Amino acid sequence: MKAVRWHNRRDVRVEDIPEPSPGPGEVKVKVGWCGICGSDIHEFVEGPVFIPTEPHPLTGTMAPQTLGHEFGGTIVEVGPGVSTSRVGERVSVDPALSCGKCYWCKHGFPMHCDSLAYFGLIGDGGFAEYAVVKGSNCHPIPAQMTFEMAAFGEPVAVAVRAIRQGGVKEGDTVAVLGAGTIGQLIAQVARAYGAVQVFVSEIAPQRREKALELGATAVFDPVEVDLVEEIRARTDGLGVDVAFECVGGTQVGMLPNTAVQVVDVLRKRGTAVIVGVFDEPTAFHFAGVLFLEKNITGSWTFAPEEFQTGLDLMASGKVKVEPLITGRIGLEEFVEKGLLELELNKDENLKILVSPGRS
Ligand SMILES: [Zn+2]
Ligand SMILES: [Zn+2]
Repeated sequence: MKAVRWHNRRDVRVEDIPEPSPGPGEVKVKVGWCGICGSDIHEFVEGPVFIPTEPHPLTGTMAPQTLGHEFGGTIVEVGPGVSTSRVGERVSVDPALSCGKCYWCKHGFPMHCDSLAYFGLIGDGGFAEYAVVKGSNCHPIPAQMTFEMAAFGEPVAVAVRAIRQGGVKEGDTVAVLGAGTIGQLIAQVARAYGAVQVFVSEIAPQRREKALELGATAVFDPVEVDLVEEIRARTDGLGVDVAFECVGGTQVGMLPNTAVQVVDVLRKRGTAVIVGVFDEPTAFHFAGVLFLEKNITGSWTFAPEEFQTGLDLMASGKVKVEPLITGRIGLEEFVEKGLLELELNKDENLKILVSPGRS
């Protein structure tokens, strides 16, 4: 079968590999659609980041391996000992795999598992005709949910956890810094959790428009306006209850650092959630955190129940993902129209989906 394999930095190949078959506890999924994630670009441009170059403690796998951790499809074969899945079932795949034995697994935080694995980054993933995954990682999807929507299971789950980490509740005001796919989804999930005002700060005009179309109550270009002032003016001078950093702290020109801004836009006792992946350290003055009793937390992947919550939000129409799709390509076009397109034309794109059924 055809599969997209990561061999090394700048060396991702579309290859023929043997079709996998499910072992105990596993199922074989015929992939419908699989989304390209920012982390796939990271692995391509500066990897290996998460991809193991020696056997991973949980999966025993290492490069070269099949990319793709955002996918849905149909179960076509069920391995021994799987009672929860059946052939023909349409599913969205939760890519996270934890050991179930370490301190964090035992305390209800599988995303902090000492040997966390992730299909498509650690273990073969969904940029292939077929993927073999744990049956327990497959969430059945309702009939009205397309495989395109199923491919958003993972990013929506990331947004759900971020909202929970921030404690967003009915009546809250929220700011989202950076409107890539994750920022767009966080803005929508915030509305679904009852946020009455959602401010989105984003440099790219197309992304600002998209955010407005999908439920943001106001959008700002941080190059043009003083974001902190604009937000204070709209929140009785208080600032927002919860703010999300979805950029990774990259400074553009003389713009204020988003890591600083995400705390500055908060009201006293507000919560900043770090969702963007930081490559470098950043300077930060903690005095404001002290005097104003602000909270700063991270949000890392998600728990299985948050994955299901995300699917439910999509199924109910509260979170719309179709407008975030900016490209649909086949496996053969993966490098040129997928990775390179996202690397070189970042602002024009949000999510590019890949289907083995498309050539
Ligand atoms: Zn992802
Ligand atoms: Zn564990």
